[in-house]
Amino acid sequence: MFRKVLVANRGEIALRVIRACREMGIATVAVYSEADRDALHVQMADEAVCIGPPPSAESYLNIPHIVMAALMTGAEAVHPGYGYLSERSSFARACEAHGIRFIGPPAEAIAKMGDKALARAIAEEAGAPVLPGTREPIRTEEEAVQAARQIGFPLLIKAAAGGGGRGIRLVRGEEDLIPALRIAQSEAQAAFGSPDVYLETYIPEPRHIEVQILADSHGTVLHLYERECSLQTPRHQKMIEEAPAPNLDDATRRALGEAAVKVAQAVGYQNAGTIEFLMNGEGRFYFIEMNTRLQVEHPVTEAITGIDIVQWQIRIAAGERLPFTQEQIPINGHAIEARLTAEIPEHDFTPSTGRLSEWTPPGGPGVRIDSHLYTGYSIPPYYDPLLAKIIVHAPNREQAVARLERALHEVRIQGVQTNRDFLIRLVQTPEFRAGRVSTPFVPRLLKGMLPTGGTR
Ligand code: ADP
Ligand code: ADP
Ligand code: MG
Repeated sequence: MFRKVLVANRGEIALRVIRACREMGIATVAVYSEADRDALHVQMADEAVCIGPPPSAESYLNIPHIVMAALMTGAEAVHPGYGYLSERSSFARACEAHGIRFIGPPAEAIAKMGDKALARAIAEEAGAPVLPGTREPIRTEEEAVQAARQIGFPLLIKAAAGGGGRGIRLVRGEEDLIPALRIAQSEAQAAFGSPDVYLETYIPEPRHIEVQILADSHGTVLHLYERECSLQTPRHQKMIEEAPAPNLDDATRRALGEAAVKVAQAVGYQNAGTIEFLMNGEGRFYFIEMNTRLQVEHPVTEAITGIDIVQWQIRIAAGERLPFTQEQIPINGHAIEARLTAEIPEHDFTPSTGRLSEWTPPGGPGVRIDSHLYTGYSIPPYYDPLLAKIIVHAPNREQAVARLERALHEVRIQGVQTNRDFLIRLVQTPEFRAGRVSTPFVPRLLKGMLPTGGTR
């Protein structure tokens, strides 16, 4: 096992990884930007190295500085967390080239799945259902028109290198196709450094259901069941996630798991990963993409299976074998996560910053808080608005929902504006309580709540 691991991230996920290491007897190195000198991950790690100025491009995305920090401190492995460098194959390669183990999948698997058009082709070949669409990036306008006529409208133009809910554009009819294509290509170039886009059938009211995978370096690929992530902001940011997915029959659950395992096997996957699917109104599911990293919402899966996904990421990277079989992975009860963010949903999710004059997180039975906040902490304006993940676990869904509502009411936070009241509102809706929501649900709820009566 490694003696020292460098954590190439910040915020709650850096703490999550440091905690896993500490329980395993592994020393930790934090990296931080000049804006994060007072951050909790810096205080909690055994060592900390400043890697640059506040902007992420100069610090948390600075591959040479992070590799240097690992070499200087003698870290044998690097955990990238999520976001930032976690899905950059160049980072995985840079680590390995310097004799540092990358705690994640092989660089080739990251590169393949990072091209979402290629990922669709791989999934289809592996026998997973994919939506009608293009398997290669669109090169010319003629190609676009031809493909679009085959697929039909409405359809989506999606950036092949997209992520974080960005680079997705709805096209309702043929007259909008070419202008939308041009905008999508230039936006993709600006946001992701590649103009490649592909087309995909649009599902009007889908559920987002994803499957957690664990694969070791000895050929074992297992799934840890699914998560429901249909509660998303209008910009496709997940707000509330749960495991298992409500109102899902056993046959579909089994089919989802099997499809996910086949996709992971098809790219020689190792470590933790997530296969995302959309489900239409008839209960049919389709592969949309694979996230080749730890997911924000991994704790709900940890709660129901009792498996520490981050510790297993580290063990797999160190060459250990998964010691359990698919049949031995349980589903115990129900878990739900709510993302508390420094955003104002009613005002188009405007971010808020400030100094926390109070942070008193909820507690009590079945409540887990993953957060980097402390009273007196000043939230820097440079990074993700995530403040805390409030994760509840209970014997059944009804009790989990009641527990989440209780926990959200307990949150005491002052000095920054948050989405807490909106989360409470969401949890109280009859649709959520019945476990019957699809991705347009939050946007619709917001429209009804807008002070002007809704203009979007
Ligand atoms: P999850 O499915 O784990 O919730 P998200 O898509 O929300 O993943 O991404 C996790 C974090 O990483 C978010 O903070 C998101 O903004 C960021 N992120 C993910 N992909 C990208 C990307 N390609 N470019 C920039 N940020 C990204
Ligand atoms: P990202 O890489 O940014 O996470 P995804 O391909 O995973 O992009 O899609 C993000 C979200 O966008 C999905 O969870 C869903 O809400 C919506 N979406 C993506 N593809 C489709 C589709 N074909 N039809 C309807 N909604 C979609
Ligand atoms: Mg996605």
